[in-house]
Amino acid sequence: MFLFIFRFFLLSFVFSLYSQELKSQNFEKAKCLNHQDLAISKLLDFDELKSLMEKSFTSIEKIKKFSVIDGFYKDFFYLKNLNDNLSRKSLNMLKQWSEKTQIKTSKIDLAEDKKLTKESITSAIKEKLILEAQRARTFAYAPYSKFHVGAAILTKNGNIYSAANFENAAYGNTICAERSAIAKAVSSENRGVSLQQNADIIAIAIVIRGGGGSPCGNCRQALNEFNPNMLVIMSDVDGENVVEKNLYELLPMAFGPSNLDKSN
Ligand SMILES: [Zn+2]
Repeated sequence: MFLFIFRFFLLSFVFSLYSQELKSQNFEKAKCLNHQDLAISKLLDFDELKSLMEKSFTSIEKIKKFSVIDGFYKDFFYLKNLNDNLSRKSLNMLKQWSEKTQIKTSKIDLAEDKKLTKESITSAIKEKLILEAQRARTFAYAPYSKFHVGAAILTKNGNIYSAANFENAAYGNTICAERSAIAKAVSSENRGVSLQQNADIIAIAIVIRGGGGSPCGNCRQALNEFNPNMLVIMSDVDGENVVEKNLYELLPMAFGPSNLDKSN
């Protein structure tokens, strides 16, 4: 009986993946509220979940959305294995993922003349940044390492640029999610004025499975170019185990643009 109820819940959730009216589905909301510690049946395995999800989309939808679906059910499987009971937070996160299937530039709404600073980043903004990194992570192209990473950069204008890692058959061409996000931010906002001078990039969230999305050395150096003082938020895939550091703590005695000035 319980399995039936859970399957019903899961199917309704899957069907709502691409519905813009998810919030209006009171049934779905009630399910989440009433099952804050929803037990995941041991009988529902990964293949079954995959099959359920794949049956729910047309071929064209699968082709267009495959990376999102792929990341989604992998994360669901991971969370299911990690916890016999999915927390309310995890359930809400799955709902949010489903609402975030479209590729778009996200933004923190600010008053017209207001700018964000590192000090003014609220916990709600941090959560949003992590969520954007989680969403971006589902777009990762990592057929070799299977290691999916998402990153989201926040600028002082409130713009968020998210990206995932993408690999290459020539392994050395692989680009990390952090540098992928930098490329997106710079190519969108740099207008002949150095982003570094204006400290436009004020924070980055990085999400990996297994906790501690700590950026590699290459990415620390690449981020340092734009603001050694930026906030680095490192999170597990389910938004837990969040660690915050200043970039200068992760890359002490960094070599940056100012060193080139001193050499003249
Ligand atoms: Zn890296």
